[in-house]
Amino acid sequence: MEIKRNVLLNPGPSTTSDTVKMAQLVPDICPREKEFQSIMAPMRKDLVKIVHGGDDYTSVLFCGSGTICIDVCLNSLLPENKKALVINNGSYSQRAVDVCRAYRLPLIEVKQPIDRTPDLAMIEEALKENGGRVAYVYITYHETGTGLLNPVKEVGALAHKYGAFLITDTTSAYAMIPIDVNKENIDFCMASAQKGIQGMTGLSYVIGRKNIIEESKAYPMRSYYCNLYMQYDFFERTGEMHFTPPVQTIYAARQALKEYREEGEEKKWARHRRIMNGIRAGVDRLGFREALDRSVQSGLVSAIIYPDDPGWDFEKIHDYCYERGFTIYPGKIEAKGTFRLCALGAIDEADIAEFWKVFEAGLREMGVSIPVKYDAQ
Ligand SMILES: *Cc1c(COP(=O)(O)O)cnc(C)c1O
Repeated sequence: MEIKRNVLLNPGPSTTSDTVKMAQLVPDICPREKEFQSIMAPMRKDLVKIVHGGDDYTSVLFCGSGTICIDVCLNSLLPENKKALVINNGSYSQRAVDVCRAYRLPLIEVKQPIDRTPDLAMIEEALKENGGRVAYVYITYHETGTGLLNPVKEVGALAHKYGAFLITDTTSAYAMIPIDVNKENIDFCMASAQKGIQGMTGLSYVIGRKNIIEESKAYPMRSYYCNLYMQYDFFERTGEMHFTPPVQTIYAARQALKEYREEGEEKKWARHRRIMNGIRAGVDRLGFREALDRSVQSGLVSAIIYPDDPGWDFEKIHDYCYERGFTIYPGKIEAKGTFRLCALGAIDEADIAEFWKVFEAGLREMGVSIPVKYDAQ
């Protein structure tokens, strides 16, 4: 079977290998069978290993997109009479704030600029002011909207200093940037199969400290479907997901994890860096500007500012590229027009070189001048 290969430069779902796609084609199976459990048990261990967790960490699988893990962690891990502290410096941490509000959790929101590293002194001040009442600090590892890399290790150290634990949304970094939960003071992290491991959509996972999950049994149950302890306990007792798992996605994830191990952590990260170097080379050659200084970027997302050219039209260039097998993505910065190019997925620098040829041809057809122009600021 021939499957058309598309190069996805959006921030996930990402391009997958044909072998991962084909791994979904399996005989029908009831996921309550032992055969299916025997796939999930090693998978839970593999997911912990990717972030170098030991036996004190576990992983819990959920059927849903990545946001389900944000929801699960925030609502399940807050004891009564304690507060959540969320560092808000981008659209994904704003999502965490929205989740806290939806559950009416006692919330301390530490707002920070979206285009630079957050101020650790302000975070410490907020922890000090609320001495002992903060249960967890939440920060996005890599803000996918802008490409900002957050100082998770330092924020984790602060959380621990004030008796709180750290939850970080690693959805757009996990299995790409090498992460070590112990070295980086991470108590909980999370990801989704369609991003770093280059699998399919519909499977997401929380990785975190067993003892904290076990303590959370006594915390208020704020959601029935999105409860971390309940899903963990069911897995521990039965080896199964509490409710129907995304069966074919799990077969694809098994293959994706095999390919992850074959490529290896360092080599995979080197490939992502190579892709980003290719992206940046084109940005520079065509004279584009990025929204963030490269010194604060993750190296996985480039947020590019729209040029000031009457011929520029994002929709048009998007469609031009899309018709030729390349998907680009709008930005998430409200104040400025931006689009994003992301270094996720089963692609490499040669794909990026091809992409820039197509993109440049598209710009010429639209009559955009090259190098692109920006009005003086
Ligand atoms: C992709 C992503 C998610 C999950 O988003 P969904 O739309 O639910 O798939 C969560 N956090 C971050 C940082 C992400 O990049």
